[in-house]
Amino acid sequence: MHHFEYKNKELYCESVPVRDIAAEVGTPFYLYSTATLTRHFKAFDEAFAMPHVTCFATKACSNIAILNLFAGLGGGADIVSGGELFRALKAGVDPRKIVYSGVGKSVEELRFGLESGILMFNIESVQELHALQKVAEDMGVSAPVSFRVNPDVDPKTHAYISTGLAKNKFGIPIQDALDVYVTAQKMQYIEVIGVSCHIGSQLTQISPFVESLQKVKIFIGRLAKAGIHISHLDLGGGLGIRYDSEDPPLPAAYAEAIKDEMEGLDCTLILEPGRVIVGNAGILVTKVLYTKQGGKKFVIVDAGMNDLARPSLYGAYHGIQPVVETEEGNEIADVVGPICETGDFLARGQEVPITQSGDLLAVMSSGAYGFSMASNYNSRPRVPEVLVDGDQFYVIRKRETYEDLIAGETIPSS
Ligand SMILES: *Cc1c(COP(=O)(O)O)cnc(C)c1O
Repeated sequence: MHHFEYKNKELYCESVPVRDIAAEVGTPFYLYSTATLTRHFKAFDEAFAMPHVTCFATKACSNIAILNLFAGLGGGADIVSGGELFRALKAGVDPRKIVYSGVGKSVEELRFGLESGILMFNIESVQELHALQKVAEDMGVSAPVSFRVNPDVDPKTHAYISTGLAKNKFGIPIQDALDVYVTAQKMQYIEVIGVSCHIGSQLTQISPFVESLQKVKIFIGRLAKAGIHISHLDLGGGLGIRYDSEDPPLPAAYAEAIKDEMEGLDCTLILEPGRVIVGNAGILVTKVLYTKQGGKKFVIVDAGMNDLARPSLYGAYHGIQPVVETEEGNEIADVVGPICETGDFLARGQEVPITQSGDLLAVMSSGAYGFSMASNYNSRPRVPEVLVDGDQFYVIRKRETYEDLIAGETIPSS
């Protein structure tokens, strides 16, 4: 359920015609709906009637206005870099609700996390544990730690977004984790508080979540026998959304399945949803530049793979809808960008509205891993981000300029 709807054949974001925003900010641009973001956050967060913290996965959509919105709803943040920690703090996220994930945190990033007083570090290797112990010792503080275990569960999603299989780089194999906990427990500057796992993204079934939680529960039992008591259980993110015809479980069904399994565990639950909150709360608006009939029909638009990488990166599907509906009907076409790469497409062999040069198109479900994955490839300034709230809209990130492109570059003077 989202607030991008047609009224009199015209696409609106809440009460604002998308066409009006395009006239003001130009194209392409990302557009988010406050009502949709709020609704999705609450639907998720309120589904869990047990002690929990919903730590929004910052990497899915990291604009500080959006992080601030979730912080105002009581949310925390799951971060994967010092840059994301900086954003979360600037956005007003309570550091006591920040969890730090990722396989390769640098010493500087570990220090930044400790200085900020975050809730916990999700540690992914023994070497990282030692690095954190050393930083904590230098600072004379205790580091709250959870280990990300790899439960070897198949999330049944795209290979690039599977993370909980033994062959993936993430976490510590669950069968090796007990030794690591025992080691950590003895370390003076480490405070062991949690277990975490995150098995993948865009999951459309509940069973892999339940399977991994069952494995983690058994593991927590083994820890208890070894005298190690866990107060935080982090189940990661990964709940999928509908891009096309997927039928993912609703947050309420997911929460219900988790609740049953949590029975008897005296832990605060940490959740790290990203895509499920923001994916369908954002669109990318682009303009048709040209159309041409080669071996097939091509619609050339002003947004490319540097603006929205998911189709190129994962072969991902995004619905393409008209900003103003016409009587022209649909056609099968490739919607491609201006980038000098064959892999530069937003849609391939897909049913799209018949358009002419100058028409506006909405690339649906682009709120997650859209702008946050954008780059400057081909020296294209990154596009603006716009947030609608009721009948108002706000530019929450300006369009980059050519000057922005070379800021920080210098020609060595001889
Ligand atoms: C990417 C990521 C998430 C969010 O995943 P979604 O599929 O967007 O919910 C959560 N936790 C970790 C550790 C991640 O890497």
